[in-house]
Amino acid sequence: MKSHKLLMIPGPIEFDPAVLAAMSVPTSSHTDAAFIQTFGEALEKMRQVFQSSQGQPFVVAASGTFAMDVAAANLIEAGDRVLLLNIGYFSERFGEILERYGAKVTQIKAAIGARPDPQLVEDELKKGGYKAIFFSHVDTSTGVLNDVPTLAQLAHRYGALCVVDGVCSIAAEELRMDEWGVDVALTASQKAIGVPPGLALWMVSQRALEVCRTRKTPVANYYGDWLKWLPVMQAHEARQFDYFATPAINLIRALNVSLSQIVAEGIENRYARHRRMSHAFKAAMNALELDQIPVSEEIAAHTLTAVRYPKGIQASEFLPRVAQEGVIISGGLLPPIKQEYFRVGHMGNISFGDLIGTISAIERALAGLGYRFAIGSAVAAAQRALQEAA
Ligand SMILES: *Cc1c(COP(=O)(O)O)cnc(C)c1O
Repeated sequence: MKSHKLLMIPGPIEFDPAVLAAMSVPTSSHTDAAFIQTFGEALEKMRQVFQSSQGQPFVVAASGTFAMDVAAANLIEAGDRVLLLNIGYFSERFGEILERYGAKVTQIKAAIGARPDPQLVEDELKKGGYKAIFFSHVDTSTGVLNDVPTLAQLAHRYGALCVVDGVCSIAAEELRMDEWGVDVALTASQKAIGVPPGLALWMVSQRALEVCRTRKTPVANYYGDWLKWLPVMQAHEARQFDYFATPAINLIRALNVSLSQIVAEGIENRYARHRRMSHAFKAAMNALELDQIPVSEEIAAHTLTAVRYPKGIQASEFLPRVAQEGVIISGGLLPPIKQEYFRVGHMGNISFGDLIGTISAIERALAGLGYRFAIGSAVAAAQRALQEAA
């Protein structure tokens, strides 16, 4: 048996050997010309992945929560009104962050597994006075996918900025930042970007940068002040050195390798591959007659699947059995239903073989716990879905 268990959770994900190898070379100086070149290339490739030639890319040593934190810190001043669309765990987190910086937050909360009705969003924005709307593209706790282009368009119609937490979506779900008019799109290295944890990545529109430049009060977060990092990012893209705080040199090397792979696959091909893997996995769960948290497949994410346990099967017995079969998957995350469902991440450079292997591990764990179904039926359903989409 392989010593390494397959990591099929919604981040961190399985990392490509070439990406891992890029981390294990001796660390150079951050002033080294070759490193400046690598950093500059990575920033350029971010533009392709976020589909933004106009925006400003940032890469800073931190996790995704930091990118959320500084989006709020840089855009919000005490008393600003923000509309938060809440579809789950990470939306709740964004609400807490916004309140730390003094935002007056109004929430539109969707039922579990649903997403907010655009009409309700428009009715609220129409009341006026909103500086920004904040929402997750994919909420990792529910597996629900938000409709970014519709929401971004509404934000702009009513003069609000549009901030998207794309930690569980960027580089896997369709996101056209410039075309759709997204003002901030943010993510972390360990999800679909495919690099071990440690980098926060985000892209800011010129309009949002201007809002930051014309603030009345200083940004209340020193390490996260966009305008401290801006000259560093601009310098590296121009293949010049500038310093604010030491970059995560080995991680940025790995990032450039992973972004090269993403660009080589082609971002559109990558979206299509994630849709295909997601449809196959969801077809497998349907064949097992297991319900999913999203209320319909149209609003389900393609980066992960959130599945309810059948009656009588507990997280505490199911997850270790799947692990024994060589695959690590996640339990539930959303507090009110945490014990009722599991989550499988299927993003990044995993193969169809990894996907089928995961489904077969789930089948064996369920069969071992006495769940009655035709063994092999989930694998067959996934195979058929992959075949039909080929
Ligand atoms: C993982 C995740 C985060 C948090 O990222 P960290 O790197 O753990 O700080 C935020 N939002 C979403 C949607 C996520 O999936």
